[in-house]
Amino acid sequence: MSLDKTPRSNRYHIAILGRMNSGKSSLINALAQQDVAVVSSIAGTTTDAVHKAMEIHGTGPVVFIDTPGVDDASLLSEARITRTKKAIDSADLAIVVIDAPKGEGEPEQKLYAHLEEKQVPYIVAVNKIDIGDHEQDSSESSSPSPGPGHRPSSSRGTSPPYVHVSAKTQAGRDKLLKAISEQAAKAKEQREPPIVGDLINPGEIVLLVIPLDEQAPKGRLILPQVQTIRDILDHNGVAVAVKVEELGQLFAEPHFSPQLVVTDSQVFQEVDKVVPPSVPLTSFSILFARHKGNLKLLAQGAQALDLLQPGDMVLIAEACTHHPIADDIGTVQIPRLIDAKVGGALVYEWQKGGDYPEDLTRYKLIIHCGGCMLNRRAMCSRLEAAAHAGVPITNYGMTIAACHGILPRALGPFRKTSLI
Ligand code: SF4
Repeated sequence: MSLDKTPRSNRYHIAILGRMNSGKSSLINALAQQDVAVVSSIAGTTTDAVHKAMEIHGTGPVVFIDTPGVDDASLLSEARITRTKKAIDSADLAIVVIDAPKGEGEPEQKLYAHLEEKQVPYIVAVNKIDIGDHEQDSSESSSPSPGPGHRPSSSRGTSPPYVHVSAKTQAGRDKLLKAISEQAAKAKEQREPPIVGDLINPGEIVLLVIPLDEQAPKGRLILPQVQTIRDILDHNGVAVAVKVEELGQLFAEPHFSPQLVVTDSQVFQEVDKVVPPSVPLTSFSILFARHKGNLKLLAQGAQALDLLQPGDMVLIAEACTHHPIADDIGTVQIPRLIDAKVGGALVYEWQKGGDYPEDLTRYKLIIHCGGCMLNRRAMCSRLEAAAHAGVPITNYGMTIAACHGILPRALGPFRKTSLI
C-alpha cells in the first residue's frame, strides 16, 4: 500500500485556520509543492471541510483540513463556522495563518482561546512576508508577532511557535515544515494505545471471528479487521481468522488454545457459547473503544442501559454513511435488543457521517459505532461533548455484550491494563 493510501483516520490531522484571504489554501499548496489530493468535499458546497492528504518528510502521512475564513460574514457563515469547529475537533495540530500586512486582531485572539480550550497545539504562520515592510522577514519563531495583537501564552505556560513564511515565494517553508515535524514528534510520545498488541506476547495466537454475511463487503475485510491483523503482526503475534460456522470445529482440536478471541459484535452471543470460559473474549468494537477513545468512559456509559425506560430518547451515532441493509446493526439490531431488554419501545435518533448534534442533553444515552473512520482526536471530541452534556455514552460492542449479559467477560481482557 502506498503512503497516499494510508486511511485518513490514521493520518496526522492539521487544521489550517485564519481569516479569509490570509492564504490558507496557498500555504497548503506551498507546503506540498504540488497539487495535493483532495480526499473529501469541495469547499463551500457542503458542511464538511476539505481534506488534503500528503506526505511530509520527517512527519509521515498527514491530512490538511482547509477551513473557511473565520471572519466570513456571508449567508453561509453559520455552516462555515460549524465546519471550522469540526475541523478543530479532529485536529492533532492547528496552523493559524496570519496575513502579515494586516497583523493579528480579534479573530486570531478568539481562535487562540478556542484552541487553548480544546487543548489543540498550534503554530502561528505569519504569511505574505513578501509584501511591503515584511519583504526581508523570513525569520524563525523568535520574531515578534505582527500587527496589533500580542503573542498568546498558552495555559501550559508556553507560547506557540511563530513562523514567518511566504506561500508565494516559499520563504520560510522549511522552517514551517520543521515546526510541524517537531509538534508531530511531541504528539507521538502521547500516541493512542495499541489496538491489541499489549494484550498478547510474541508468538501468541489471536483468533478473529469474522462473519461473511450480507453486511460484509464483497472480496475484502473492513478497516477495523485489517488494522487489528496489522497490529497483531506488528507485535509479533499470530493472527488466525475464522467464520463463526467453523469456530466449534477449531475449538474441538485438542491443542488449539488462542490467547485471545476477538469477534464481530453481531455474533457475540454465538461466539460466547462456543469459546471456552478460560479463553479471553472481546470484540473489535471494544478494542477500538480503547484505541480510539476512552474505554473506561464507554464501559461506564454501558451501565446506563440498566436505567433506561420505555419512551427514553437514545442517539445512535455512526461516523460514516453507508446504505443500511435489512438487519442493519445500528438501525435494526441495537434498537431491537434495547427494546427487549427494557421491555418497551424507546425513541431513537440516528446521526451518520461527519456531523454530530450540538445539543446532546435531550438524550438519555448515546451509542456510538467503533468510529474506525475517525481519528482518535475526533472520537475523543465526541466523547468529551457527551461528558460535557452529562449524557452517558457507550458503543455498539458494549451495548450488544451488555444486552446479552456478557459485558463483564468482554471487558475481561483489559482488566490487566490500567485502562479499566
Ligand atoms: S459505522 Fe463506524 S465502525 Fe462502522 S465502518 Fe462506519 S465509521 Fe467504521
